[in-house]
Amino acid sequence: MKKYNFNAGPSMLPREVIENTAKQLLDFNGSGLSLMEISHRAKDFQPVVDECVALFKELLDIPAGYSVIFLGGGASLQFMQIPANFLVKKAAYVNSGVWAKKAMKEAKLFGEVVEVASSADGGYTSYPKGFEANVPADADYLHVCTNNTIYGTECRKDFDVKVPLVADMSSDIMSRPVDVAKYNAIYAGAQKNLAMAGVTVIIVKDDALGKAPRELPTMLDYRTHVEKGSMFNTPPVVPIYSMLENLRWLKKNGGVEAADKRAHERAAALYAEIDRNKLFKGTVEEASRSVMNLCFVMNEDYAELEKPFLDFATERGIVGIKGHRSVGGFRASCYNAQTMEGVKALIQAMKDFEAKH
Ligand code: PLP
Repeated sequence: MKKYNFNAGPSMLPREVIENTAKQLLDFNGSGLSLMEISHRAKDFQPVVDECVALFKELLDIPAGYSVIFLGGGASLQFMQIPANFLVKKAAYVNSGVWAKKAMKEAKLFGEVVEVASSADGGYTSYPKGFEANVPADADYLHVCTNNTIYGTECRKDFDVKVPLVADMSSDIMSRPVDVAKYNAIYAGAQKNLAMAGVTVIIVKDDALGKAPRELPTMLDYRTHVEKGSMFNTPPVVPIYSMLENLRWLKKNGGVEAADKRAHERAAALYAEIDRNKLFKGTVEEASRSVMNLCFVMNEDYAELEKPFLDFATERGIVGIKGHRSVGGFRASCYNAQTMEGVKALIQAMKDFEAKH
């Protein structure tokens, strides 16, 4: 049966990305060795890293003076590596969800943290707004999580503030154009919009590094990895290769502008059905609705149909729509690889289920 994958991460990747990566797993560039078996210092692997960096710079139109590095440790390591490298005295954070809050918690280990806005009181069902003027002018940076994977809220813009931005873009990177010049750093775990799990991408502004008043362990200092081109230690070879294939696919399919357009088309179709269908309702304030993670629940009158709908959808090959355990209901994740065909299959399931009830 054809499967429609709505997992929140690790999540769907384009079929050709998986197939091309699988071929290299069997025989890397005709070497007779698997991609899993080669040295990261093999002469054929350096071009993989170089092309990944070049594609990142091209697709996100990254200005001169920025480096792109590939590390392990997930976005969660960045919650502390960011303040370790950039927090001199004080940093501002927007509390837009659990991941943002986790980032804030780690930053407190390194200096003063000002929470400039929070949507916690509303159960994180909106993206905080109107906080730009409250960002202290003497903050070293403003940290934002641009897409809140668990709640399905998204800002989808690059804020105008007086201080440099730092962003967790784990679940919306490469889905829209970004004004990178506003940021000191952008980081993302790869397992949603970039690649298989195992690599984290960090875009850093070179001349913002080295300002923090603390000795950093070598591995935590971004300069180590910038200077060594992500080869200070063994990088996650296979995930990086899968990212290369994915970035090639994205370029071939129109880059981030086209990805943005497709994301809005998919989201418009699915939100229209969520709003129309008597069984379901969205969980997020309209202006904050994410085009990456679309969250919805059963209307109160039909609450008992949650599990039956999940089973109904599963029978049609629709997988991964169960909402995050802290929110419940449903979450349809529609990252770059998601297709309109998949979204239409989900919409049809919602319509057919409605007709039965
Ligand atoms: N930030 C966001 C927005 C996420 O969605 C996630 C994971 O889902 C993380 C951070 C944590 O990422 P990792 O598991 O790579 O540490």
